[in-house]
Amino acid sequence: MSDRSDIPNGPKRQVAMVFDLNKCMGCQSCSVACKRLWTRGEGEEHQWWCSVNTQPGRGVPRDWEQMGGGYRDGRLVLGSKPTLEEFGGGWSFNQQEVFFRGRGQAAPLRPRTAEGTPPTWGPNWDEDQGAGEFPNSYYFYLPRICNHCTHPACVEACPSGAMYKRRADGLVLRDEDRCQGSQDCMRACPYKKIYFNHVRGVAQHCNLCFPRLEEGVAPVCARNCPGRLAFVGYLDDEDGPIHKLVNVWRVALPLHAEYGTEPNVFYVPPLSPYRLNEDRSIDTGNMRIPLEYLESLFGPDVGRALETLRSEIHAVRAGGRSELLDTLIVYAWKSLFGPFTREPATVTPPPTGLAASQEGTR
Ligand code: SF4
Repeated sequence: MSDRSDIPNGPKRQVAMVFDLNKCMGCQSCSVACKRLWTRGEGEEHQWWCSVNTQPGRGVPRDWEQMGGGYRDGRLVLGSKPTLEEFGGGWSFNQQEVFFRGRGQAAPLRPRTAEGTPPTWGPNWDEDQGAGEFPNSYYFYLPRICNHCTHPACVEACPSGAMYKRRADGLVLRDEDRCQGSQDCMRACPYKKIYFNHVRGVAQHCNLCFPRLEEGVAPVCARNCPGRLAFVGYLDDEDGPIHKLVNVWRVALPLHAEYGTEPNVFYVPPLSPYRLNEDRSIDTGNMRIPLEYLESLFGPDVGRALETLRSEIHAVRAGGRSELLDTLIVYAWKSLFGPFTREPATVTPPPTGLAASQEGTR
């Protein structure tokens, strides 16, 4: 049987992820683990398949939400193609001057682009800036990977059949031997999570660590998250946390569902403290993060999702129990990963994508 799913019938099952934004501290452990495992080659310097940006912010690639792509009225729309500069490029530093020429603090580290000029953007250029005025300023972190969409615009746009949706688990993968470098996938993806390798002339993107999944090991971003906020599993596993968070409790929502690709990465939206009035009294009618802003990211259901979380918190504070909160707290790490709880060190020989497990990336 072909490994490829024809999109109209769809895959047999769908692997999905849920990120709980209330627990993300922006430590970048996921980004660094992914970088270390997958994008250390030539032409991959600017590639961060997993990126964590501060919201509100311009993100990476810069202003990606304004770049277009996805579907409008069911029709594929090609947006713009992010440039290397908008991705932040890959920087080099003057380490020799700083560390080995005895100049002390007279020689600080200076990043330079591939052209030797000071960079004008980077993967976390606006980190922790956020929005709002003191004492009501706010921000939160948003981890982003490829959404392994149910209707992947990248697959429809690919003229050479290199991009495909896998039948067994719904992953959106690419056959690099078929890629002709048209970069139409980059234009079509509304999340701008495809990168172009200018050295090899091929597109590259998050493959959800498929060699690890095939061995029962969770993706490296999820396993390396110290906050235990990244759930992985099958969307149709009725006993698993993903199904319950998305379909039963409905507190995990897709990002920018209006793009029309039906993403399979979901987010538990961030709660925030109440706003303070000018006299520093508490405005119990409004949260610090404006609801309108959250709705612009996660859609009109976000207020209901936050209300569900709040009422569960109140129930626990009143002495009750909450299966929802117990699920989100994650007392045991294995409860995050459904069928993907195997230790990578037990896989021998390590398949592609597990090699770095032997070098300290879990
Ligand atoms: Fe394709 Fe972008 Fe969806 Fe990933 S997020 S499947 S690259 S359209």
